[in-house]
Amino acid sequence: MTKELYLQRLQEINPNYDLKRLGDAFSFAEKAHEGQFRQSGEKYVTHPAEVSLILAGLDMDDETLIAGLLHDVIEDTSYGYKGVTELFGPDVAAIVDGVTKIEKIRYESKELQQAENFRKMLMAMSQDLRVIIVKLADRLHNMRTLRVKSQESKLRNANETLEIYVPIAHRLGIFKLKWELEDLSFYYLEPEKYHDLANRLDKKRAERESNIQRIIAEIDELLDKEKIQHIIYGRPKNLYSIYKKMTQKNRAFEEIHDLTAIRVIVQEVAQCYAVLGLLHSRWKPIPGRFKDYIAMPKPNMYQSLHTTLLGENADTFEMQIRTEEMHRVAEYGIAAHWKYKEDQASLTRKSDFNWLDQMMEWQREVENPAEFLQTVKMDLYNTHVYVFTPMGKVIELPDGSTPVDFAYKIHTDVGNTCVGAKVNSRIVPLNYKLKIGDIVEILTSKSSQGPSRDWLNFVQSSQARNKIKSFFKKESQLENIDKGKEVLEKSLRKYNLSLKEAFTPKVNEILLDKLSLKSMENLYAAVGYGGIGFRQILPVIKEQLGMEEKGLQLGKSRSQSPDSGIVVEGMDNLQVRFAKCCNPLPGDSIIGYITRGSGITVHKSDCTNFSKGKDEMNRFIEVHWDDSIKTTHSASLKIIGRDRPGLLMDVTGLIQNLSFTLTSVSARVNNDHVARIIVSFDVKNTQELQTVMAKLRGVNSVLGVHRI
Ligand code: MN
Repeated sequence: MTKELYLQRLQEINPNYDLKRLGDAFSFAEKAHEGQFRQSGEKYVTHPAEVSLILAGLDMDDETLIAGLLHDVIEDTSYGYKGVTELFGPDVAAIVDGVTKIEKIRYESKELQQAENFRKMLMAMSQDLRVIIVKLADRLHNMRTLRVKSQESKLRNANETLEIYVPIAHRLGIFKLKWELEDLSFYYLEPEKYHDLANRLDKKRAERESNIQRIIAEIDELLDKEKIQHIIYGRPKNLYSIYKKMTQKNRAFEEIHDLTAIRVIVQEVAQCYAVLGLLHSRWKPIPGRFKDYIAMPKPNMYQSLHTTLLGENADTFEMQIRTEEMHRVAEYGIAAHWKYKEDQASLTRKSDFNWLDQMMEWQREVENPAEFLQTVKMDLYNTHVYVFTPMGKVIELPDGSTPVDFAYKIHTDVGNTCVGAKVNSRIVPLNYKLKIGDIVEILTSKSSQGPSRDWLNFVQSSQARNKIKSFFKKESQLENIDKGKEVLEKSLRKYNLSLKEAFTPKVNEILLDKLSLKSMENLYAAVGYGGIGFRQILPVIKEQLGMEEKGLQLGKSRSQSPDSGIVVEGMDNLQVRFAKCCNPLPGDSIIGYITRGSGITVHKSDCTNFSKGKDEMNRFIEVHWDDSIKTTHSASLKIIGRDRPGLLMDVTGLIQNLSFTLTSVSARVNNDHVARIIVSFDVKNTQELQTVMAKLRGVNSVLGVHRI
């Protein structure tokens, strides 16, 4: 792609763009990507140029088109954020930066990575929705050029597109992109089914087409007679939506009737209803298929009248009636707003989409990324039911929702204190399935004990599910706090201390810092849960209160007696110590080192920490483990993980649940959001340690486990 060709194609799409600025941006991108090529062999700049043209096709503003041209510049070239800001302004730089950030994070598991990508995208969207529109255009062009990639990469990209990008395009109402993304994914995921369906459609289309054309001609005449200015045409449905209908509703191809929808576009809203009236008096509507999305727009702002009519030969055909403005929104969704400059400011910062706020709230509440992704997916695909409050406010809920879903949608407290419900003035069970138009009244009671766990079996909305779960989580948090205080009180009694005497503000401060906890509530809860032991707390109290060191000790020093479990060839009663640098365990290959005057220190034979000088060679002595002695040894592990609430608890809880005694725990989180946890506990041998390590690697968000 050359600059001339780019500008020429841009002008064909829309002559009003600032060609000077866009030309400059093209040149900048071309220079930045100089020497880079796409896998297809084309110059790299072709990709951002095509992305920019896709954005032009959505009527996006100059800023967004420039960001499209530069979207890979910060990541792939030496031009940084500052350079882009200076040349093209902060808006463009912010969009490019947002797009770059979405791509940055890479995690070990696919599922985690997907969830994390999704979360990043939501964050980016909440800053400026244009970020996500550029990202969608980027994905579309990558899907269009997927042909040259490896089979594995084709499948991965197609899957990710269907699971993440299509639902986002759907929610943002950008159907123009959604349909193409769907069909491209379908093409790569199920090539045979794709071709089969495409062939069948081709054959059937000729026959259908003549029918449709006849009906269109008749409607055309009907509307002309009424002097309603209009555009009318047949729109073939995209392949993937037909395929979905066949698989989800288990229908044969022959049973799918609405392969083509007839669309009527008029000038004013009132004309939509006038057209509907004319159609219903000429053809019989199929009951249950009429939908008024003008009075009740879909959550993605889609508006239209839908009806299915019965034609000759019992053939049905689907009608969509809308105004020009509704049509723009139907095709471009949120992107439709950028054409109208005055709306821009309000949309770039804050969206009209409650959905986005909802997502942001969930991603704060749901700790487990996989669970979050599940939640989002569920919500994205759900269809909706509209019901009313007694005051007549419309509430939108997922299909199959119950009064409990309704209650949580109104307010968390309403949900938590809900004891019953009335629908259309009649008492109904809480698992009653709401229907369109139901008037719902929730009965609450101040003395309610809170939600019931059974509700989780029937609620449909992610919101209700999450709120109920978090209620129980908080509930058990309170129980753990009480239990923790009880444990501590009991332990402190031996030292004649009360909770208040032991936990002075200074002690609290040191403990919270040392254990990386946010509040004393968290500390009590951790003790109650078993994540933290009294042994970790006591030294701090002792030190701060100036208590004498006696009795209880942390398990630092090891047995030095002949019972150490070490056999030294040909010698008895030797003092044996274990080296702190490598901490050998039964099962490790070991070597002894004779220390002047203090016996033998046992190292792992691959320990790099002790002197290997030649003159020292005669100080090494062969040692073995004595298998008959089963003492325990302290082992330490370093665990690295992406930080999340509850990580420390999960790690320590796991070790204790396996019945090992923790002797020390420390944790640190730097501002890179990576948690570094060091735990020490007693094990019998390396086998036990390896079991623990394997289990720890399975803990959510743990990235690595190393012995130290
Ligand atoms: Mn790209």
